[in-house]
Amino acid sequence: MAKHQFQTEVGQLLQLMTHSLYSNKEIFIRELVSNASDAIDKLNYLKLTDETIKAALPQDWAGQVNITFDEEDKSLTIIDNGIGMNEDDLIASIGTIAKSGTKSFVEAMTGDAKKDSNLIGQFGVGFYSVFMVASHVDVISKKAGEDTGYKWSSDGTGEFELAPCIKESSGTVIYIKLKDEEAEEFASKERIKNIVGKYSNHIAYPIFLSYKEEVTETLSEEDEKAGKEAKKTIEDRNEKINEATALWMQPKSKLKDEEYNAFYKSISHDSTDPMATIHTKAEGVNEYTTLFYIPAVAPMDMYRADYEPGVKLYVKRVFITDSEKELLPTYLRFVKGIIDSEDLPLNVSREILQENRVMANIKQASVKKVLNEIKKMSKDEEKYALFIEQYNRALKEGAYQDFTNKEALLELIRFKSSKAEKMTSLKAYKEAADSEQKAIYYIVGENENVLRNSPLLEAYKKNDIEVLILDDKEIDEIITPMYGAYQEWEFKDITSAEAPKVEQTEEEKKEVEEKFEDITKKIKEILGESVSDVRVTNRLSESPSCVVKDAGDAQMAQMAQMMKAMG
Ligand code: ADP
Ligand code: MG
Repeated sequence: MAKHQFQTEVGQLLQLMTHSLYSNKEIFIRELVSNASDAIDKLNYLKLTDETIKAALPQDWAGQVNITFDEEDKSLTIIDNGIGMNEDDLIASIGTIAKSGTKSFVEAMTGDAKKDSNLIGQFGVGFYSVFMVASHVDVISKKAGEDTGYKWSSDGTGEFELAPCIKESSGTVIYIKLKDEEAEEFASKERIKNIVGKYSNHIAYPIFLSYKEEVTETLSEEDEKAGKEAKKTIEDRNEKINEATALWMQPKSKLKDEEYNAFYKSISHDSTDPMATIHTKAEGVNEYTTLFYIPAVAPMDMYRADYEPGVKLYVKRVFITDSEKELLPTYLRFVKGIIDSEDLPLNVSREILQENRVMANIKQASVKKVLNEIKKMSKDEEKYALFIEQYNRALKEGAYQDFTNKEALLELIRFKSSKAEKMTSLKAYKEAADSEQKAIYYIVGENENVLRNSPLLEAYKKNDIEVLILDDKEIDEIITPMYGAYQEWEFKDITSAEAPKVEQTEEEKKEVEEKFEDITKKIKEILGESVSDVRVTNRLSESPSCVVKDAGDAQMAQMAQMMKAMG
């Protein structure tokens, strides 16, 4: 038997799990069942695409999850007949934080046990959540198509053990020895049924709960009169405890918010209800179903290059992939959910996907659906403010990436403004402007306060012209000029734009410049190399001077920074 150390971060996480103050411990069942369902998804796919795997499986193989419990032993066992894990998989999947959604959680951890326990509630942290209730866990697994099984054991401290073992069929058994104080609650038929019904009702596979039941014989009236005692027998029960139908295939009218939300939680690692749910069934040339969710809080990994895509692709209920980043455009990478197509081939590869007409149609229609939903949300100002707080940046990315939907996206973005307290939209900006104005004026920088007090705003204020205050410098600076125009109005940076409504002929301009020539020269001498020029301007009305940036200054560096920020 070989001993292995957990990766340091896993160690920290487990430490927190075992001593968790978090009250919502029941979610460990949701996380383990969701893993079981993923594992069956994967084998299901192989069965249809890989001849060797198909040959190795029993003809009547059908994915299912089994749960058993033992009150005396204080244990709970979750069994699936999915793809299973070999030695390397076990080390990589449940010894490190390589790919799991747990990663974001660990990054957000503060080290303060109380705060971090609250974080668990926001994230849901996959397999490791089992250690909230377990004093010891065995994972016995055999990978489909391989001969040896492996047993992984740990009590959630610094290390785990790994050894070969005998296991008949492929799949995974997770044996959970419950902590004394948790045993009564979770080694219980009613409690397990209740938790599965709450979180896993609509995973696509049946979940069976096995338990023993004492059955009392019913006596005939005569026997009862004769004072005969009823015989008691113990019978094995194997009860299906979920609906086992893919939620997205149900008609909208039959689904309640709670069901949609529970399904969201089962696929997203998020314990908070989503901000919006978009369920669509398309019939006609292409037949498909989509179910999209907008998380209440933007995913933690959204601005990292290695973010995990949130949308899974199915073909006729068969899981195909969850690692394809192009199912939706990248600016919508915060959207979670599923796409299930009736028309794509089951053996669809990445290459095929990327140039497939069916997929392209689904993608295009999906974007429209999501943007429409966002537009609907924008009608409720208070609700929309919450959306903007999380996703304004994504909309800005979209407005420059997605040419087809540029206009719609520009209208959805919200901007701080020199005039209004609340954020404004381009539509409102245009409507409020007077008839002579022909451009959208903005100023960019890092600090809202500095921008609001910029001397450059003076001339605009004096002329009652609204200026957009863009303080997400990292992306605003580069992206804003790239929007082009919104309904023929170009975006103009007031640091380089001519001040509005200043009537001045070339001659007048020259006259002023000559008048101030001596002083500008002098200032230039004093400032030396730290400036590239000193000029007279008509942009200021109260302040005597201001600093502006050189056009084209350090553009490339900013571009690189922005690309990084956009993941
Ligand atoms: P996630 O499900 O987000 O990847 P988890 O912590 O829940 O994160 O699981 C980590 C990984 O462990 C999974 O990605 C999977 O590779 C593996 N795994 C967990 N449970 C099972 C299982 N029952 N069968 C096969 N693989 C599993
Ligand atoms: Mg999981």
